[in-house]
Amino acid sequence: MDRYDYLVNRLKELNHRITPQRLAILKILTSSDSHPSAEMIYDQIKAEFPFTSFATVYKTIALIKELGEVLELEFSNDSNRYDGRRPYSHPHLICTSCKKILDPDLDSVNHLQKEIVKETGFTVTNHRLDFFGICPECQKNR
Ligand SMILES: [Zn+2]
Ligand SMILES: [Zn+2]
Repeated sequence: MDRYDYLVNRLKELNHRITPQRLAILKILTSSDSHPSAEMIYDQIKAEFPFTSFATVYKTIALIKELGEVLELEFSNDSNRYDGRRPYSHPHLICTSCKKILDPDLDSVNHLQKEIVKETGFTVTNHRLDFFGICPECQKNR
């Protein structure tokens, strides 16, 4: 079962209302690899459902977040971004020029976590690891 079907089922099981707008929001959250903000999702939804309010988008994201099924990336100067494909801690690569956010495939994170546990005795529940820089496309356009 893919993430989209899984989430639709979960909402149904919990007796949440399933509207076409809600399904469209879930589709974007679970298929987009661009870590969209609520505004980006709203812009996409409006094209298909012109009468959708921003509150509908926001509330749906909040609901999915409550279920622990979306990872929220908070930024102090920019909109929060969402990863509905990987709702667990993982490193991100952020272009400070075009604001693109990628999921790099790294083997070293598990190592790092083990090292931290060994060094400090902490029980690590989650982490946040962001790398900021300029993506190859933006480097070309400079
Ligand atoms: Zn860029
Ligand atoms: Zn991600």
